[in-house]
Amino acid sequence: MTWEERWHPLREEWVIVAAHRQERPWSGEVIAVPGKELPEYVPDCFLCPGNLRVSGKSNPHYEEIYVFDNDHPSVAIDASAAEPPYSEFYKARPAAGLSRVVCYSPKHNLTLAELSLLEIQNLLCVWQEQYTELGSLPEIEHVLIFENKGEAVGVSNPHPHCQIYANNFVFKTIENEARVSERHFAENGRSLFQEIIQAEQIDGRRIIAENDSAIAFLPYFARYAYEVFVAPKETYPNIAKLSLKEIADFSEVLKTVLIKFDNLWQMPFPYVMPLHQAPTNGHDYRAFHFHIEFHPPLRKPNLLKYLAGPEIGGGNFLSDTSPEEKAAELQALSTTHYKLEVKT
Ligand SMILES: [Zn+2]
Ligand SMILES: [Zn+2]
Repeated sequence: MTWEERWHPLREEWVIVAAHRQERPWSGEVIAVPGKELPEYVPDCFLCPGNLRVSGKSNPHYEEIYVFDNDHPSVAIDASAAEPPYSEFYKARPAAGLSRVVCYSPKHNLTLAELSLLEIQNLLCVWQEQYTELGSLPEIEHVLIFENKGEAVGVSNPHPHCQIYANNFVFKTIENEARVSERHFAENGRSLFQEIIQAEQIDGRRIIAENDSAIAFLPYFARYAYEVFVAPKETYPNIAKLSLKEIADFSEVLKTVLIKFDNLWQMPFPYVMPLHQAPTNGHDYRAFHFHIEFHPPLRKPNLLKYLAGPEIGGGNFLSDTSPEEKAAELQALSTTHYKLEVKT
């Protein structure tokens, strides 16, 4: 039996680790494991090349990466004025921003894990361009690039893609990370994220992949069973600052993590994958350390981690698993994708 609290230095909150709870009788939701093989092209997929989207626009017959403005944006650059609240105490304003979709590949049946190293590098270069372009707009304070993958996180279309929200405000998690990173740097003269990387390197038990300039680890303070951070070793406020060599190294480490995720249960592994990058509101963010976070919702092949009393009710996570054990599981997996293993 272990009951432990681990400090999450980026969120500044405790994570309760109660690893013995994993074997308790399960009464949560059971997710179906996708079994059937998908075709390369699906006529009614709104992301496949050449297809008509609901907006009436057609996708070009794209052959690599394809970026377009979201047909159902949650924000708009010309958002109309908000209806004034009835009470003077409340505030409202137009949701000004841009929202885009990035198709990773014309092939409907691939996942990010199955793209070639070169294709992942190209995607990272597109993310660099998008961050720079959208972040330079005067009304945009922050660019959130993220992928939701799998039905477990509400995505019914498996066509490999991510989304970009460029907003007139900074998302809470980023605001918090920026604030604690800045304070830590001012007080200690060191990057907070560098301290985390160093702590993970000294311990070593939770490192999933590492090369010259990039590292992936399941953090000591993980909130989800298979939470993994991927980061360059140097502190850069955003992905656009990485050199070509660093992009290549980062892609390699990212691909290793993605393959291990898919290999874990021999199925496309569901996750929410945000890029955490500094806001673009003109402040000095030199202490902000760009990284990717994976928040996978499943604890077991079919078992969703429900967010309940502690998480939704109280705002802190209760983790049912040991980060060291989960990291060891990922470390033991092959770096060759299971679909390729079967073919050879
Ligand atoms: Zn498709
Ligand atoms: Zn983060």
